[in-house]
Amino acid sequence: MQPATLLTNAAIYTADRHRPWASSLTVRDGIVESIDGPPSGPHVTRDLRGAFVMPGLVDAHNHHAIAGIGELHEFTIPVDAGFDAVLAAVRSRVEAHPEDDWIVGNGWSPLLIDAIAAPYALDALDRATAGRPTVLREQSRHNRWANRAALDAAGLPSEARTGRPVSGLLVEGEGLPVEVTLARALAAVPRRIALACQHAIDRLHGFGVTAFQDAATSLEVMRALRDLDDAGLLTAWVVSSAVINDQILGISPTGRELIASSPSTASTHHRPTFAKLFLDGIPPMRTAAFLDAHGCGHDDATMTMSDQELLEWLHAIADAGLSAKIHCTGDATVRAALDAVQAVRGAGKTQPRFHVAHGQYVHPGDIPRFAELDVVAEISPFVWYPGVIPDALTHVLPAGFAGRIHPNRDLLDAGVLIAAGSDWPVSESPDPLAGIAGLVTRADPTGRRPGRLWPEQAVSLLEAIAIFTANGARALGLDDVTGTLTPGRSADFVILDGNPFEMPVARLGSMSVEQTWFAGSIVYER
Ligand SMILES: [Zn+2]
Repeated sequence: MQPATLLTNAAIYTADRHRPWASSLTVRDGIVESIDGPPSGPHVTRDLRGAFVMPGLVDAHNHHAIAGIGELHEFTIPVDAGFDAVLAAVRSRVEAHPEDDWIVGNGWSPLLIDAIAAPYALDALDRATAGRPTVLREQSRHNRWANRAALDAAGLPSEARTGRPVSGLLVEGEGLPVEVTLARALAAVPRRIALACQHAIDRLHGFGVTAFQDAATSLEVMRALRDLDDAGLLTAWVVSSAVINDQILGISPTGRELIASSPSTASTHHRPTFAKLFLDGIPPMRTAAFLDAHGCGHDDATMTMSDQELLEWLHAIADAGLSAKIHCTGDATVRAALDAVQAVRGAGKTQPRFHVAHGQYVHPGDIPRFAELDVVAEISPFVWYPGVIPDALTHVLPAGFAGRIHPNRDLLDAGVLIAAGSDWPVSESPDPLAGIAGLVTRADPTGRRPGRLWPEQAVSLLEAIAIFTANGARALGLDDVTGTLTPGRSADFVILDGNPFEMPVARLGSMSVEQTWFAGSIVYER
């Protein structure tokens, strides 16, 4: 038997309401053995000299494998890059990576749509890429810009046809053939997916994350996670989400086929327990459905499926023993999701968890329904403070309405379970400490942008930490193993460089992680 580790002289916030604070913690065999109690046997002592400890953080919505592949094999376009700067970034990537068969970039601003749709844009991209197949994804990843070589490879028209010039701009699902072709071209590279998952999890550890939900998972990724776990290499709790209807990612198989195969990928730390539905798009593309179109171009935005289809899917998902995460960005879509859940709950199905993912805009009348129907408000990405996305929203939604985003205070007051996700790599960074700081201050934790976004919706530090620990774990169905520092649960925790309860709120944004522990082992050390 390995000796236990006794951590002493620490300021431990456990997030466990029965014993929120402690000064020592014993870890044995990867499990919290005791809080403020003596170790039961042989142990080594580590004096933390007053350091602040809290449970490992939970990211309720990311796309870790996509982020890992992006960091290992793709390049980032700065979101503030203009049209010419995007082309310059492409040219330097092409020159620096002569070995890459495909050039793949991420992050151009949705404000460039018009420039990219212009007739000369495709020629300009072709010149910059010297004929190598190229796809550049817009920041939300809902839209793409492909060159002629990529369009040809995907079987899409690359020359102007009667009346319709080709620009290479592919909106929402139009880009799927390019993604499928790209995925096929790269599938042959051995261990590519597993290495991407590991890389992403290492990065998450650097931000204190020890549990997360991948919000749109392919069978390939689920199998890689299981195989890593079987080899003793999966160092986080991972909840996967079988994609039902893929609008944008190029995942195959999806739907019933994926629901049927995903349970076979379950392992100790990998839980393929969710399905994911996309019910609308995103406001900047005018593909989000709003209750009141406010005369600003969303009038014809429709949902991806009818109410009846949604209801049938939720029943099928529940009958398969799974839970559902539903992508909703407009308030009409949120309401449609709640209506469908109401019908499913009414049919006696109380077991599945339902997440409204994103849910930036919620009609005030719908807020109490989350609690009544036991629906999680999964808020992602961290857009409850000023930043690029809230700015983009002011271009497409009426002033006054655009900033009424993420009514977190109202949701908590109504008794709603909130979990928070980064949506990384849609967001630049998956840092949950930035999310926590922003929940409390409604101000940009990096200090780059002035002002506060709907400050009445701020929550307390205790509430914000609960959202990223205990409540996140509950929302993901991981509260039997993690989320609080409680005897019997996995020893997943972080040591921060300061005590957030003892610093002015304005400084919360500068907190960082010193050490991350998963299942009793150090997985990150600064
Ligand atoms: Zn997402």
